[in-house]
Amino acid sequence: VKNDTRGGYSFYTARMESTFSQHLDLEMGLRRALTNHEFAIHYQPQFDAQGQTVCGVEALLRWQHPERGLLYPGDFIPLAEEVGLIGHMTEWVIDTTVRQMKAWVDAGIAPPRMAINLSALDLKRSSLVGEITQALERHQLPGERIELEITENLIVQDINIATQRLTELARHGISIAIDDFGTGYSSLSYLHQLPIHTLKIDRSFVQDIVPERTGRSVIDAIIAMGHSLELTIVAEGVETELQKDWLAQKRCHGMQGYLFSRPLPTEAVTHLLEAAISR
Ligand code: C2E
Ligand code: CA
Ligand code: CA
Ligand code: CA
Repeated sequence: VKNDTRGGYSFYTARMESTFSQHLDLEMGLRRALTNHEFAIHYQPQFDAQGQTVCGVEALLRWQHPERGLLYPGDFIPLAEEVGLIGHMTEWVIDTTVRQMKAWVDAGIAPPRMAINLSALDLKRSSLVGEITQALERHQLPGERIELEITENLIVQDINIATQRLTELARHGISIAIDDFGTGYSSLSYLHQLPIHTLKIDRSFVQDIVPERTGRSVIDAIIAMGHSLELTIVAEGVETELQKDWLAQKRCHGMQGYLFSRPLPTEAVTHLLEAAISR
């Protein structure tokens, strides 16, 4: 039992206490992780509609936790946002991925583009554009090699800030992808107001592509809209041949999913890129 500020008592259960201390552990762990180099990026290749050419890679953050093993973004990004650490993490992600892309370019095995995910809070930070352009400068990588993935919610929250930042980034050749397209609060009007290059169809729509011909009208509409706006359309979470064939027939440009490859550590994806080039 804990004495609260109003002079009354509230029950502070053992269960809450353990959740609270786990939370604190994780927060301290996150701070340590940045200095102890416990973060890593895994890269998931994106393929063209024939499944032959690697047309991009998406950078996905991982935390190699000393006790808990490999953690996925869902386990720690919400907390990093809450405690104000996300900016530092994003900066690290940008520097690491830009450096890696430059290494692939130098080795002659780079895919056309590297996609980097931004958090909802990143666009609000006034230092973001500088962090990205300085990383490009530092590693001598052209902005054309980078695509930033952002969600619709993030744009709609503050359309003026989003327009300002994204337009500035586009001036450096960086392209923008709308992530999880179709799942957010979508006003659609932003689509022609912003320099958008790619629509990423959310996995939930791709999962609806099943042998029974139902529930495909939404994804059909998304693809048709992408074509009419002359955007590049990338489907995520492609797991079956049926999904791949259906998406290819609809002239979806890029595909990403376990059918082609899981996200891979740097060394493994480098081998995959080498093999793809020599094919
Ligand atoms: P997302 O951007 O929608 O990324 C796609 C997620 O789907 C990834 O999960 C990926 O591993 C998973 N995936 C890929 N192909 C398949 C498939 O065929 N089937 C299934 N079931 N899943 C597939 P992951 O790596 O756990 O990332 C989760 C989310 O965390 C991402 O969703 C993204 O929003 C966020 N995230 C990842 N890396 C970063 C980062 O560096 N910064 C920020 N701010 N967010 C990140
Ligand atoms: Ca993404
Ligand atoms: Ca996505
Ligand atoms: Ca998604």
